[in-house]
This record gives sequence, C-alpha cells and structure tokens, in this order.
Amino acid sequence: MEYGPSAEDSSAARDWLARRGAFGHFIGGTFAEPGTLFDTRDPATGHVLAQVTRGTADDVAAAVAAARQAQPGWAALSGTKRAQYLYALARHVQKRERFLSVLETLDNGKPIRESRDIDVPLVARHFYHHAGWAELRDSAFPGHAPLGVCGQIIPWNFPLLMLAWKIAPALAAGNTVVLKPAEYTPLTALAFAEICQEIGLPSGVVNVVTGDGDTGAALVMADVDKIAFTGSTEVGRAIAGQLAGTGKRLTLELGGKSPFVVMPDADLDAAVEGVVDSIWFNGGQVCCAGSRILVAEAVADRFEALLSARMARLRVGSPLDKSTDVGAIVDPIQKDRILSICKAATDAGAELVGGAAGDGCFIAPGYLRNIGPANPGFEQEIFGPIATLSTFRTADEAVELANNTRYGLAASVWSESAAVATDIAAKVKAGVVWINCANLFDGAAPFGGYRESGFGREGGRAGMLDYLSEIPAEAITEPVPA
Ligand code: NAD
Repeated sequence: MEYGPSAEDSSAARDWLARRGAFGHFIGGTFAEPGTLFDTRDPATGHVLAQVTRGTADDVAAAVAAARQAQPGWAALSGTKRAQYLYALARHVQKRERFLSVLETLDNGKPIRESRDIDVPLVARHFYHHAGWAELRDSAFPGHAPLGVCGQIIPWNFPLLMLAWKIAPALAAGNTVVLKPAEYTPLTALAFAEICQEIGLPSGVVNVVTGDGDTGAALVMADVDKIAFTGSTEVGRAIAGQLAGTGKRLTLELGGKSPFVVMPDADLDAAVEGVVDSIWFNGGQVCCAGSRILVAEAVADRFEALLSARMARLRVGSPLDKSTDVGAIVDPIQKDRILSICKAATDAGAELVGGAAGDGCFIAPGYLRNIGPANPGFEQEIFGPIATLSTFRTADEAVELANNTRYGLAASVWSESAAVATDIAAKVKAGVVWINCANLFDGAAPFGGYRESGFGREGGRAGMLDYLSEIPAEAITEPVPA
C-alpha cells in the first residue's frame, strides 16, 4: 500500500525523521550518539521510517545513573514547580498534536482519526491531570515519599499514551524515570524527549532508552526502585519472578479477554456501535478490548444481523486516510499471531465471519461464531480485529461466561435497566466495568486488572499511590527548630 493524495499531510513528521537520521538514547537531557541500530517501519507500507539504537546494559546503567542523580533535586522542588513542568509538557504535546499524531500513525499503523482525536488528546489530559496531583502531593499524601528511580517498560499499541500513563504520575510524585518504548514504536517517545528538552525539564528527570526485550530485561535488573510494566502476561510473569525478593516495587498491566455483555433489553444499535469502539478500535490491539461478545439468546439473531451489516461498512485501509476505520496491524509477526489463533479456533469448530487477511499488515474486521469456552479462540487473547460471539440464556449464565477467563481487566455491560446493568457489573470480576459504553478513559479514573491481567493501578489517586511509599511513623521526626 502507498499513501495517496487524500492522506493526511505527513511532511512535518517525515522532515523531522529525515533531519534526525538515526537516533541515540535520551540520557541526562541530551541525545547520545547512535549505537547499534535497528529499523522501525511503517507497517502500512513496509518502508523504513528511521533507525534507532538497541540499548545495552551499559546504556541502561548510564540512564539509571542520570535519573538517580536528578531525583533528589526533582523531589525537593515544590509541588507547584513540578506542576508547572507537567503543565508545560501537556501544553507542548497539544502544540505538536498534529505532528505527534502523524508520527504515531506512521510508526504504529493506527488510523489517523484515532491518534489525532483519542491518543494524543488523552496524553495531554493525562499530564494536565497529574499536574494537579503534583501540586497536591504533600497535602493529599502526608507521610508519603517518592520511590526514587522508576524503570518503565511499555508496549506498542498506544505508544505515546502508555508513556503518559507511566511518566505523568511518576514525575508528579517526585520520582525520576528511565522509559523503554516498544521496539516496533519508539518514535513518539523520542519526540517526547525533545519536548522535555524544549520545556527545560531538569536533565535526567526523564530518560528514554530504546531497544528490544533484552534492553527491557536489563532495565528490570538495573539499580531502579520500581518497575512499571505494560505488556504481555508472559513477560509480566517472568519479570515478577526476576524481581521476587529484590525489594523493588512492581506494577503490571497485562493482557485481557474482556467480556462485552448484551442483555435482552439492550439498545442493540447502540451496543453494535459499542462493539465498533470496543474490538475494532485500534484494530483490536487494545488490552481492554471487548473481545468476547456475549449476547442474550432472545436477541442474538437481530444483534448479529446488525453487527455483520455494520462490520461490512467499516473501511480498512491507509492509516493516514481520514476516512479509515481499521488501519494496519503493527508488524507482520503480530499479523501471523492473530491469524494462527483464528485458525486454531476454526480448526476447533468455530466459524469465522469476515476477518480476511489482506496484503501486508492488513486484516479485515471479523468475529468467530459457534464458539464456546473450550475453544482456544474464546480463551486466548487474539489482540487483533477479531471478536468472539456467543450466547447466554440467563443473567447468571452471562456472569458465569464473563468470568470464565484467566484475565480480569475490563468488561462492558449493555442494558436499558440500571438495576440489571449495575447488578451484572458488580458480579463481573474486572478492574473496569463500562455500562452502555466501552473503552472510555480518563486520567482521573484508575485503570488496572485482576488475576492474570496484572496488579497496580494507573490514573487518579490509586495510580499516584503506586508511585509513593509510606514513610514508617517512627522515621518521621519533628523538624529541629533553627
Ligand atoms: P511484550 O510483553 O512482548 O512487550 C512489551 C514491552 O516489554 C516491550 O517494550 C518489550 O520490548 C518489552 N519486553 C519484552 N520482553 C521483555 C523482557 N524479558 N523483560 C523486560 N521487557 C521485555 O508485549 P507486546 O506484544 O509488545 O504487547 C502486547 C501485550 O501487551 C498484550 O498482551 C496486551 O494485552 C498487553 N497490553 C496491556 C495493557 C494494559 O494496560 N493492561 C496495555 C497495552 C498492552
């Protein structure tokens, strides 16, 4: 696929990439010389966008040392001063909204409408929200201290938004950070590092080391006080094992297989739009995607007719085209992974509606029907634009199916009765339950999972507490009068 004339203007992002050439890490307020390089590509076209450095253990150690040196000074600033820096980050993200949206879409393959109208505005909102927490930290969390240096490892599905979810609360609490973006999508983190320079953020408060899983593993083992990880359950489990007994704090935001429950009295048109927002948003590469649709048998035929008609109208194509609904999958490896789970599901008896593999990194939206809990497609996280569709007869059965998962990240319940919806919401074991909506996020609302979806919260007061430690009462001494 090539970008046609109707695509969003990407010249500013392309000029920036051409000007920068190859990227080194961002350590201690400056960009280091590039080291051993790897390519980052546009998944829609396969073209190389830039080359970035594969971080070594020494690079990680240098970044951690810069963060360690900066931390006492950062923590000693007044809350108001830290808030001013966070406001400045938010404001500068807004000023470069268009550039950042295009860069994100080029690197990740997500539709420009999503990066422009959802991801980047939420990034700014997250920094604004946490500027408030920086200001309030001492009064809202008396007897708490920052943790120190936080290592932060993020995935590729919302590169800049996951960066904001990690960096904003850490800085508001008085920590400094070393962030490792995912290998498929390092570019917006490097652009954000430039913004840190532009606003004059003190050197070493934010450091960015690019690289792959080995770089992430080096960060886990480095001299950090906390690891905040978002990614797959498999890697999260390995990190938890490595950190056992080290005394380092850990939060894990992992995978999901979230239920989307349609009760018999639901507004079916609205519920179908909810599915679009839920599993076809970001090509289904969303940890909290409503990937298991559970619909009441009494309305299942009507619902499926509406769903398949709506699905057929979704436009799959060029991510930079403003009318595209479903863009490219981030990388050929992920595309193959999605297709192999679909094959396992159909081999086990499910029927795939839509979901055709296109050229390059494209997969059409689809869903698996005739599928029950024993089918691998029902149980495994597909992390692509393919939902499962199954039915239930009673509310109890809906809850049982919803909870029939090793995950517990999110759920969505659709009913015109507040009593029914809230009753089911209370019984579903998930960190977030949306009623008559899906995939709504806000910096003030804590997000996080149960069971194999991880632990710890990001956002709001609960998220701040995960970047603070309680000072033991005996360690608090009265100030000595001068
Ligand atoms: P991944 O676990 O392979 O990679 C995530 C990050 O971890 C990347 O930066 C990667 O380089 C790094 N990494 C890989 N191996 C590592 C290791 N051994 N030690 C340290 N770091 C390592 O996951 P992915 O495939 O990039 O992302 C998709 C997964 O992330 C999905 O399962 C999805 O559900 C989950 N996810 C969860 C959330 C959430 O908030 N709960 C958000 C987004 C994605």
